[in-house]
Amino acid sequence: MFEVVGQENAKKVFENACKNERLAHAYLLYGPKGTQKSIYAMYMASKIMCKGDEKPCGQCEACRKIISNSHPDVRVVSTEKNSIGIDVIRKLLEEINTKPYEGDKKVIVIIDADKITVQGQNSILKTLEEPPADTTIIMTAENINLILNTIKSRCQTLKFQPVKVSQIEDYLVNKGIDKEKSAFAAAQSGGIVEEAEKFLDDDYIKLRKEVLNIASKCTKKDTFEVIKYVDFFVDNQDKSDVIFAIMKSYFRDIIVVKLTNTSQPIINYDCYDILVEESGRLSYNKLSTIMDAINIAEERIKQYANFRLAVEVMILDIQEL
Ligand SMILES: [Zn+2]
Repeated sequence: MFEVVGQENAKKVFENACKNERLAHAYLLYGPKGTQKSIYAMYMASKIMCKGDEKPCGQCEACRKIISNSHPDVRVVSTEKNSIGIDVIRKLLEEINTKPYEGDKKVIVIIDADKITVQGQNSILKTLEEPPADTTIIMTAENINLILNTIKSRCQTLKFQPVKVSQIEDYLVNKGIDKEKSAFAAAQSGGIVEEAEKFLDDDYIKLRKEVLNIASKCTKKDTFEVIKYVDFFVDNQDKSDVIFAIMKSYFRDIIVVKLTNTSQPIINYDCYDILVEESGRLSYNKLSTIMDAINIAEERIKQYANFRLAVEVMILDIQEL
């Protein structure tokens, strides 16, 4: 249950703390998107609350309630929105100050704590300075720089990072995925488990192929093709989140290829030749314009702007002038 691939260092720190019964009051799990931080946070919550022998057993009442997200003493905060405001945090802090319902412990999990506003972070700080003995706070963040230093210094930090491709392949095979599919998905993952998992879906593979095809062509000026690209976006509007993510990963990869001295993994490894070619053709300036154009379009769509128009402006901005 709540299986996390790799991340041996983070696991070691937490497991040792459990063994020595020296849990920190607060943990901050940080690292790139898709590295299973929130899954590990739930593993930690289960390990702390489990009543079984081999913790987390996955079978006791506490474990089962955590799996079904109905444990009254495990509060999970997560949001699709861009920020977590002071109102949410205030309510949470009120809960922290009440007694546990079922046992003698409570766990608060805050997914994407880097979305908490500065005001919200400051109010958490007071709790971290005088933490209730029965409560463990577990936070995750992609961008640790958005977490106040005063909070970081009161948390045990656990760093998450991309893992070995072979570990992801083994993990998928163990889950019963066939060998060939596992190898392909792992190779595309850039060491990010959740990226690999996307490649288990045939619809995703097909959509990705189409998006990469458009991404690789749409930088070249061709006014007639613009309508075709825009139509593709409009036809797949319900999947626009995924499409934008693929577009960004493609251009991000070109930037990574251009930066010779970086250890950042390439996501779209299967089109490495095209990435190299494009990295020679497109300047940093142009790539930065393209990334901006995509981000702006995404932002406009989030704010309910006209979808077709937003995409059209984006494609025209991406094209060479
Ligand atoms: Zn259990």
